[in-house]
Amino acid sequence: MNEYDSNRISDIASTIGFKKTNVSKDADCFVLNTCHIRQKATEKVYDEIGRVKKNFRNLKKPLVIVAGCVAQAESDEMIKREPYIDMVIGPQSYHKIADLILDYKRNNKKIDATEFDVVKKFDELNKIPNTQNKISSYITIQEGCDKFCHFCVVPYTRGPEYSRSFTQIIEEANTLVNNGAKEIILLGQNVNAYNYKKYRLSSLIKELDSIKNLKRIRFTTSHPKDMTKDLIESYRNCKKLMPLLHLPIQSGSNSILKSMNRKHDREYYLSVIKKLKNINKNIKISSDFIVGYPNETKKDFADTIDIIKKIGFINSYSFIFSPRPGTPAYDLTNQSEINTFSENKKKLKKLQNILDNFQLEYNKSFLNKYTEVLIENKLKKQEKYFGRTENMIPVIFDSNNCQSGELVSVKITSFNQRNLFGFHIDNKVKAA
Ligand code: SF4
Repeated sequence: MNEYDSNRISDIASTIGFKKTNVSKDADCFVLNTCHIRQKATEKVYDEIGRVKKNFRNLKKPLVIVAGCVAQAESDEMIKREPYIDMVIGPQSYHKIADLILDYKRNNKKIDATEFDVVKKFDELNKIPNTQNKISSYITIQEGCDKFCHFCVVPYTRGPEYSRSFTQIIEEANTLVNNGAKEIILLGQNVNAYNYKKYRLSSLIKELDSIKNLKRIRFTTSHPKDMTKDLIESYRNCKKLMPLLHLPIQSGSNSILKSMNRKHDREYYLSVIKKLKNINKNIKISSDFIVGYPNETKKDFADTIDIIKKIGFINSYSFIFSPRPGTPAYDLTNQSEINTFSENKKKLKKLQNILDNFQLEYNKSFLNKYTEVLIENKLKKQEKYFGRTENMIPVIFDSNNCQSGELVSVKITSFNQRNLFGFHIDNKVKAA
C-alpha cells in the first residue's frame, strides 16, 4: 500500500511542479513514506534521514517530509527527536501534501498533519489522475481495520475500515489499463472486508474481469473471517482472478490465535482452504507467521509447524514477534517469560526452513514444463525478460520475440528458491 501511496504523493506533488528524481543530490524535497508494522521499519526512517543529512552537509538543506504510519503514530515527537524533519504527514492526510509544502515555504514553520479524513482523501485523490504505468499496478480499494488483532498497529495508524466508492475504483482501474496495466492488484489492510453500499470485493472482481485489455486480477491482504461464499465463488466465475491467495493465519495454535484476538481458529482456517480447493484444486496459499508471540509454548509452535505441513504454503512472510507500543500484546510482552530472543531465532529458522522447502519443491514442479508468464519488463542490456507466473513466481527467461505486457508461454529449464528460469519459443500459451 505504501507503494500505491508513494505514487499518489508523487502525482499530487507534481501539481505544484515537483518531479521524481533518481539522483539523490538533485532532490530539493525528500518524502519518506514509512511503515510502522515492526520496530525495525521505524528505526530505518531515522537511519535514512541520517543519510540525507550527511549527503547534504555542505549543500542547501532539502525539505524533509515523513509520511505514512510512523508519522501517524509518532507525529510531532519525530520532529522533536530529529529536527532535520520539516513535516510529518499521516496516511490519511497525504492528499494535502501540495498545499502543506506551499504553506511551509510561506511560513517556514514545521507542520504536523496527522488528522484522519479518509473520505476527503479519496475524494481529493480522485480529482488527480493516477499516472502509474506499470504492467502490474495497484489500486487501494479499502483502508483501515476493525479487527484489532492484539499485535497490530493498523487500526490505530490507518483508522477504522473505510471502503472507496465502487465507481471511483472502476474509473481508476480503467485509467490504469489505458496507461498500460495488464494486471491489477486490489489493496486494503483488510481487503476482503470491502463493503460499499451493495458492492463487495466479489462485485469489484466481476467488474474488472470484464475490462477487455486487463489480463490478471489479484487482491491482498485478506482476513480468513471475510472469505465469504461470494468471494470464494469468484475463483470459479472470474477467469482473470489468479489462483494464489495470501491469507495470513499468523499461528497454527488455537490458544495463540485466541490471545492474538484473531477471531478465527485453525479449524475455521482449514475449512476456508477446503472450500477454495473444492472450487479449484490448483489454488495456492501464502501466509504471514509470527514466531515467539507472548506465552507461545513448544506445543503452540508445534501446532504452527503442523498447519504449515498440512497446507504446504508456497510463499510466506515470517517474523519474530515485534511488540508495538499501544497494542494489547505490548503489555503481554512484559508478563511473558517463556520466549527468549535466541529461542525465538531458532524457532524462526526452523519454520523458515520448512517454508523454504515447500517453496523449492513447488518451484521444482515447473521443471521442463511450459508455464504462462505475464512479462513485466526487459532486463537492461540483455535479451532476457522478467515476468511472473499465475502464482507470482518470478521468471527470468530468454527470448528475442516478445514485449512487456504480453502473456507468453515459457519453458522452465532451471529454478532456485525464489525464481524460475527458462526460454520463450513462441507467443502461443501452452498449458503447463
Ligand atoms: S486483520 Fe490485519 S490489519 Fe487488521 S488488526 Fe489484524 S493484522 Fe492488523
